[in-house]
Amino acid sequence: MIDLYRILPEEMDDLVIELGHPRYRAEQLLRALYHESPRKMSDLHQIPSSLRDALVTAGYTIGSENEVYRVVSEDGHTTKLLLKFDDQTLIETVLMQYSPSQDKSHPRSTVCVSTQVGCPMGCVFCATGQMGFEKNLKAEEIVSQVLHFARILRQRGEHVTNLVFMGMGEPLANYDEMIRAVRLLTHPRAFGLGQRSITISTVGVISGIDRLADEDLQVKLAISLHAPNDELRKKLVPTAGPHSVEDLIMAAKRYFKKTGRRVTFEYALIDGINDSTKVASELAHVLRGNGAHVNLIPMNPTAGGFQRPARKKVLAFQQVLRNGDVNCTVRVEKGVEISAACGQLRTDMIEKING
Ligand code: SF4
Repeated sequence: MIDLYRILPEEMDDLVIELGHPRYRAEQLLRALYHESPRKMSDLHQIPSSLRDALVTAGYTIGSENEVYRVVSEDGHTTKLLLKFDDQTLIETVLMQYSPSQDKSHPRSTVCVSTQVGCPMGCVFCATGQMGFEKNLKAEEIVSQVLHFARILRQRGEHVTNLVFMGMGEPLANYDEMIRAVRLLTHPRAFGLGQRSITISTVGVISGIDRLADEDLQVKLAISLHAPNDELRKKLVPTAGPHSVEDLIMAAKRYFKKTGRRVTFEYALIDGINDSTKVASELAHVLRGNGAHVNLIPMNPTAGGFQRPARKKVLAFQQVLRNGDVNCTVRVEKGVEISAACGQLRTDMIEKING
């Protein structure tokens, strides 16, 4: 079976023509898929039944994700879902909403998608990294996470405004499916999200960064650095392997040169591990003069024994970077009480299911 949510618009044109229908039917089909988000083929009333039947006979389907569990933060701004796919795969996906600015009536609604089940990168502070790697998600499984939230938001008269590839998995380790999903989600004839509204985050797959720079896409890139030197970084990201901090900074420079888009360095601040002002000075030294932007992420308190630094330590770290001429922000915390670590909800649910 082939999921219609993996078919790019140009491929859809060829498909309907191959099935003996005029090209404009592809337009109707795409509009139905991305504006109405049907859950099954029989819900596709916007195309003639002869085309629907031909699609079914040719093996096309609409894959469905099922919501197994939903948890909403106390302020209602963050929603975390556990979704199950047809092959019983369980993944997490998150919606974060931010109050609308004065000139906008809708909140910023950012979906954080997963690209893999588990993750091969094994970051020691991450629940997903500790569960090991199970499988790459297919493009349609990535798209369906966004469509699931799009359906929920549509009922409230709202829509998805931003997308971050920061959920379970390393997006650049599932490159082809991730890029296909980006193309489907940004194509004006498909989901139509602005390319600049998308951020792809990597823990440092350098070949993937260089490939991404060569795509004709205006997406933003975030590199999870977490340490200013190789010794500390390898303790936190054991698979950093042959890629040094310097290699990553060089890759970011190449990305900027090629795309004109500045790279953000993500830095998870972990109490007593990488949060001293001495480490901050070293980080300022390696990033100075790069026009780099650092996003500090105080560690989520529930992740495997690691602790979040006190607020004053976070601010002191930030100040050292600023004094060193490095642009730096601290990530706004959303739904801390429900988010746990990335992958935590899935781990908790599997433990409950297994008793
Ligand atoms: S932090 Fe990201 S890259 Fe590292 S193990 Fe977790 S999901 Fe994978």
